[in-house]
Amino acid sequence: MNITKSYVAKSVERMRPSGIRKFFDLAATMEGVVSLGVGEPDFVTTWSVREAAINSLERGFTSYTANAGLIALRTEIARYMSERFHVEYAPKEEIIVTVGASQALDIAMRAVTDPGDEIIVVEPCFVSYAPLVELAGGRAVTIGTTGETGFKLQPEQLEAAITAKTKAVLLCYPNNPTGTQLEREDLELIADIVRKHDLLVIADEIYAELAYDQPHTSIAALDGMRERTILINGFSKGFAMTGWRLGFTCAPKEISSAMLKIHQYAMMCASTPAQYAAIEALQHGMGDVESMKKDYRRRRNYMVQSFKEIGLDCHLPGGAFYVFPSIQSTGLTSEQFAEQLLLEEKVAVVPGSVFGEGGEGYIRCSYASSMSQLQEAVKRISRFLDKQKGRAI
Ligand code: PLP
Repeated sequence: MNITKSYVAKSVERMRPSGIRKFFDLAATMEGVVSLGVGEPDFVTTWSVREAAINSLERGFTSYTANAGLIALRTEIARYMSERFHVEYAPKEEIIVTVGASQALDIAMRAVTDPGDEIIVVEPCFVSYAPLVELAGGRAVTIGTTGETGFKLQPEQLEAAITAKTKAVLLCYPNNPTGTQLEREDLELIADIVRKHDLLVIADEIYAELAYDQPHTSIAALDGMRERTILINGFSKGFAMTGWRLGFTCAPKEISSAMLKIHQYAMMCASTPAQYAAIEALQHGMGDVESMKKDYRRRRNYMVQSFKEIGLDCHLPGGAFYVFPSIQSTGLTSEQFAEQLLLEEKVAVVPGSVFGEGGEGYIRCSYASSMSQLQEAVKRISRFLDKQKGRAI
């Protein structure tokens, strides 16, 4: 019998593929491309961390771990979170080791969302948020931040988006794609509203180690917030461990137990060698995290300064490894800009529009690349802008 229908779920059919991929696929077919497109460190994971994974394999540690992860790793995570961000979590009951921050986001969303619940998503943001909310059966209510405020969520915007159906607010600081950081005084204003409306915060703090101007403040560290926050963090960015696929959640016991149910059925546990590597990263890897951060800070300053010099407005991002300059002066949409820049000058950037409301008119440039690559990219972008000006005359 012929197949007469689509077996794909309607919710997945409706989902748009990630707009980032389109540019990567195009760039992959070209030679000599300078890529500011990728959202991952250009550093290789510290040797002693790689060695710890190798040693674990040599010792034959090849079985599953506890669902929530090795207790030795969870204990290290608890110590790290306490020392670095002044938040206290019980390793046995409040920490889950996940397959990247990606899976942490998924179990967080699914553990708290009932059908019809509204989750507020602050855009521009990481491309997975709204689709994950929808997959969990919720409704993503978006707030668009703007360049005028340096893409900082304004308390009155949050207040205006809250309805009787709002369950949670998803926050990501330092932010992908804008690099924007919310400092303690900004977070206090947001936390006041969250407490007033009795909401939950899902805080994606995967870039917490990459805060350049002030130490990162976790929203969970503010008064009365720990009990209403799911903290998401991991090893991908700060520790340069994207391929290891290791993240974690920190949340009060009740929510952690709910997330663990999903995690144990859907994933069983995170990769065992990666967990041994992560213990080493937390015990002895902080020096390398610090030195990578110094390098990123230098590159951030170079990119912002260079963009200003070639006539692109660019706010100074407080964290992550992205700059988000405005390309509005060219009269092109961000998609046109990215496509023409790639075809004419072989520089890959990501159009701001793929990150949602507020992203149009901007491009995301990752500076997780060597200084020489960044200098070459700036030279080519400058030439592209000159040609644009010539065309406009
Ligand atoms: N959250 C944000 C804001 C990200 O930018 C990324 C990756 O780019 C992730 C989560 C996913 O991180 P992981 O590689 O640990 O799954």
